[in-house]
Amino acid sequence: MGKARERGILDIRLHQLRDWAHDVHHTVDDTPYGGGPGMVMKPEVWGEAIDAVIVGSAGEVSGGSIAEPSGGISDDGVVAGSSGESLVSGLEGEAAAVRGPVVGRTPRLIVPTPSGRRFTQSVALEYAAEPWLLFAPARYEGIDSRVMVEYASRLHVDEVSIGDYVLAGGEAAVLVMVEAVARLLPGVLGNANSVTDDSFAPGAMQNLLEGPVYTKPPVWRGHEVPDVLLSGHHGKIARWRRDEALRRTYVRRPELLPAVQDLDKADRQALADLNPDG
Ligand code: SAH
Repeated sequence: MGKARERGILDIRLHQLRDWAHDVHHTVDDTPYGGGPGMVMKPEVWGEAIDAVIVGSAGEVSGGSIAEPSGGISDDGVVAGSSGESLVSGLEGEAAAVRGPVVGRTPRLIVPTPSGRRFTQSVALEYAAEPWLLFAPARYEGIDSRVMVEYASRLHVDEVSIGDYVLAGGEAAVLVMVEAVARLLPGVLGNANSVTDDSFAPGAMQNLLEGPVYTKPPVWRGHEVPDVLLSGHHGKIARWRRDEALRRTYVRRPELLPAVQDLDKADRQALADLNPDG
């Protein structure tokens, strides 16, 4: 991702939410209406922050510290969030410059929450086609719901979950999504084809897990690389990879199999061999 940023394929900016909290303590949370444990993030602070980032985009993005390349994002503790800090960060793909006018464009607002729609490879592809993503990771029990209602009238707003578990804060969820999206941007990966072979990649791999992979040497600690991969026979190799993807999915994620589209005859045979009774 560092190289992608250097090459101008991708621009990531971090913003400190507390910059828009105006009391001496820079308070971003308050007690929940209706009672109960935990705190809720204040709508005024998020509103000002999001407005500022959106408006700032028309010219220079203001108030942002720019993430360091590769792994340096947490250098200044902005993303790490151990301090209970929150942020708004933007991901700007190259498509932006090519596709839309610079002035007046708006971002897609992405709010990580366990109660959101599931982040999947298809969603990652959808996001990779967007010129500008604005992430709003929360802490505590989340952001006052009116913030999402307010911006839904102006922006495309997504509440998104990265999985069925609960994190302490949304920063790690944002890192997960940024990595998944960034590697899909043209020019980020060395080999664009590897994206279409990935597990879950829309197309032939939709709802399938990628099978095992090997490199040299041909024998390591007595473990051999499957013969077919050394055969140089492209057709047989492709068939073997497909069988292994079906096998692995059958063993590890059987619930995915009913959704696999366009099974050919050889696929159906491979599945029948895996499950002779079914
Ligand atoms: N009480 C909330 C959880 C709050 S967790 C609930 O039960 O839904 C605090 C923050 O961590 C969330 O607001 C969100 O920003 C982030 N977070 C936690 N789990 C997440 C997940 N699975 N996906 C995306 N974001 C998550």
